[in-house]
Amino acid sequence: MWDKRNALELAHQLVLWRRMFHSNPELSNEEQKTSLVIFDILTSMDIEVQKFASHFGLCGIIKGKYPGPVIALRTDMDALPITEANDVPYRSQHTGVMHACGHDGHMAIMLGVARMLSLCAGEFAGTIKLIFQPAEEAAPVGGAGFLIKDGILDDVDAIFGLHLWPDLPCGHIGIRQGALMAASDRLNIKILGQAAHAGQPQYGVDAITIAADVIQGLGHIMNRQIDPLETATLSIGKIQGGERYNVIAQEVVLDGTVRTLGEEVRKEIPVKIKRLLDGITAGQGGANALDYQYGYPVVNNWAEPTQLVIQAARQILSSEAVHDDVKPVLAAEDFGNYLLKTPGAFFWLGCAKEGHENYHLHSSNFDIDEDTLVVGTKIMYKTVLMALAHYEKKRNLDAANQPVLTKVGYGKVGTIGVR
Ligand SMILES: [Zn+2]
Ligand SMILES: [Zn+2]
Repeated sequence: MWDKRNALELAHQLVLWRRMFHSNPELSNEEQKTSLVIFDILTSMDIEVQKFASHFGLCGIIKGKYPGPVIALRTDMDALPITEANDVPYRSQHTGVMHACGHDGHMAIMLGVARMLSLCAGEFAGTIKLIFQPAEEAAPVGGAGFLIKDGILDDVDAIFGLHLWPDLPCGHIGIRQGALMAASDRLNIKILGQAAHAGQPQYGVDAITIAADVIQGLGHIMNRQIDPLETATLSIGKIQGGERYNVIAQEVVLDGTVRTLGEEVRKEIPVKIKRLLDGITAGQGGANALDYQYGYPVVNNWAEPTQLVIQAARQILSSEAVHDDVKPVLAAEDFGNYLLKTPGAFFWLGCAKEGHENYHLHSSNFDIDEDTLVVGTKIMYKTVLMALAHYEKKRNLDAANQPVLTKVGYGKVGTIGVR
């Protein structure tokens, strides 16, 4: 039974859970204790929990009274290698590790939904999968891939996820159909020259001057060779090279990332980069090696699941607080992997505190308005119930439109039309 007392208790519990996770952050692929704690909490709610041999992810499984659709929710579990700058009672107890991306809040919300669903199990038809995913921050190989490989989506009708979002105030959400967040790929360019005395550059090949031309050229690719109406950006975040002030540099390494919203332009860019590299390095007598790694795909929200989130949110929040066509961002999320083949939607849950300075995700000062935990839990819970009803209806319609196979004559199987 769900009543007002339960709701108050849960609001308090959500804050306790979030603070517990916040104080005890663990890095990607090291979420062992987090996983154990979640396992204990879910089992204390009498929820069946699936463990995995090769990672710390978990899947809570809540079965309704009757068979029906399978709806999955996903939270991430990992923290970042950042030292927390906030002076709060629940600050990180692990120096150099911090939940600076809000995954502590995502886990608390998931447990809140688990609590609400476990109390009303039996009142719905279908199954809910609560996916706790490790290593979201471990791009280009995020934890979503581990779980997909383990077959987590094989029976799932639709999947939903959220991210705390400091660009929106607490009590607001942001979503859009189609591309919400970017594909994130990584490029690593090695430029090879030939060392020589700085006073005799003619005996060497300067990897630094080649690198300078390459960086300029990369900019030209982005603003001259890509359709200006496409969304794409390339940033080199790290350069390493040279040995000594008076030696011509033998080697320079450029490390960067490419963000795109369209699959075609995503595939075009590495081809153009390689052409540019070969041209510039050959022209100056050097050589190059390009390591281009495709990382997370675009978070591409499906139409029906997006509408379900919007409708669910409008039942909880005022319609002005439901931003249903937000501008995408070029940050990435490995939730995009779940959406490649399975219908689903991802939304941003506002967490900015009114009257306070609010810091961006991955900031050492990042913190949230904890009232958002209740908002997120309610929207996710509502979304699940609406999705169960929606996909149950869809299954029935599909079944009604299936040709009926029946025996005709002496054991021959034939189609006798559409019911
Ligand atoms: Zn992050
Ligand atoms: Zn995150």
